[in-house]
Amino acid sequence: MAKKKVDIVIVGAGLIGSALALWLVKHGNFKVALIERNKPMAIPELRNERVVALGRLATNFLREIGVFQQLGEDRCHAYQRMCVWDENSDGVLDFDADSLNVEASLGAESGAGDTHLGHMVDSLYCNYLSQQAVLENDQIESNFDAQLLSLDLSGERGVLICDQHEFTANLVVAADGAGSWVRQASKIFANHRDYDQRGIVTRIVTERTHENCAWQRFLSTGPLALLPLANNQSSIVWSADNSVADELFALSDLEFARRLKFALQDRLGDVQVLTERRGFPLRSLRVNNYFKRGVVLVGDAAHSIHPLAGQGANLGFKDILCLGGLISNVQSAHDLSSPRLLASYQAVRQADNNQTDALMSALHGAYRNNSPMWMAARGLGMNILNRSKAIRQLLAQHASGI
Ligand SMILES: Cc1cc2nc3c(=O)[nH]c(=O)nc-3n(C[C@H](O)[C@H](O)[C@H](O)COP(=O)(O)OP(=O)(O)OC[C@H]3O[C@@H](n4cnc5c(N)ncnc54)[C@H](O)[C@@H]3O)c2cc1C
Repeated sequence: MAKKKVDIVIVGAGLIGSALALWLVKHGNFKVALIERNKPMAIPELRNERVVALGRLATNFLREIGVFQQLGEDRCHAYQRMCVWDENSDGVLDFDADSLNVEASLGAESGAGDTHLGHMVDSLYCNYLSQQAVLENDQIESNFDAQLLSLDLSGERGVLICDQHEFTANLVVAADGAGSWVRQASKIFANHRDYDQRGIVTRIVTERTHENCAWQRFLSTGPLALLPLANNQSSIVWSADNSVADELFALSDLEFARRLKFALQDRLGDVQVLTERRGFPLRSLRVNNYFKRGVVLVGDAAHSIHPLAGQGANLGFKDILCLGGLISNVQSAHDLSSPRLLASYQAVRQADNNQTDALMSALHGAYRNNSPMWMAARGLGMNILNRSKAIRQLLAQHASGI
């Protein structure tokens, strides 16, 4: 068995794990290894359905590691406006970057004018680019197509056995997603909540322009979001109760397009479906401890939330910015697993992640309650909020991650 001694082992080369590896070798002098169970990604199709809405913190992080600049207009589209409305009341929230003077940092590259709320990013392509950058970086010991066999945390350094390799490291970072093997092997307990919904994801093109606006309608069976892309295409995330999702999956593309047009109240005209529909079970996950004896959790391994406000990956980028910042200040590799350092990380990130999860659950619940009093109050509340410039400014700032 080949023995390898490194300072930090990151498990999982998803959006968050690959980005952290690249950031750490840029900002510190550590030996970093990255272990991924799958082979390196092949270049994804141009028209794929997986898109994430990223705010400034995430896109700045990606720019810093040299990935954002490579995305190109076809794979990364700035949006300027957000319009949220409700199936069961006349409530509307409508805010945009221009009128609220959200400063553009990327106007020229964005393809959507000088101001924006954020970017719709092809997440598969972004992940592909960051994996390529990892493979080309000789400071990162990358191990793809690797099978983790055991994790031993009883000694001073963590020992990970993976195929024919034994890694010892001061810090093991779990970036291996919601089903995290590392989290389970470290016996960190996770609380799961099943929303009994699936997020149906596909790419569409609409008859009328999407106006670079993220449209979101709260239906009583779950929210429907349109993420605007180049060439007047949009990616949709239709979160629907499982029984409704079954029904939507059974429809032909033509019937599904009609149903979508109806659900959007014909705001964007006829709809044409461009890619196969994919479904993601919607669950939230929280952990009590973000670290344990030389293991620390980031991204979906630490938290996963309902996608209704498109915050999951954004929170993951906040995690790695926080952890990376703390790590880059340590004097010796020995201090990487210091409980004080990891507790500081937990104190900052757990509060923010839990608050966002609580907010998503509250919104999810608020729009499912269809008692007449509640619906009237909801509509009134949304319209009152919409009339306040200060509130709209706050919403715009939140959406753009300022
Ligand atoms: C329908 C939907 C829409 C969404 N929309 C948005 C949005 O608009 N904005 C937003 O910010 N977020 C959004 N999200 C959330 C976002 O996709 C996730 O938060 C993000 O992808 C998590 O990234 P990650 O790297 O932490 O985990 P993952 O993407 O799950 O990556 C984990 C990596 O670890 C690897 N791995 C797993 N197990 C092992 C193992 N045992 N050994 C080695 N490697 C392993 C996996 O192969 C993978 O490469 C959405 C989610 C869904 C479901």
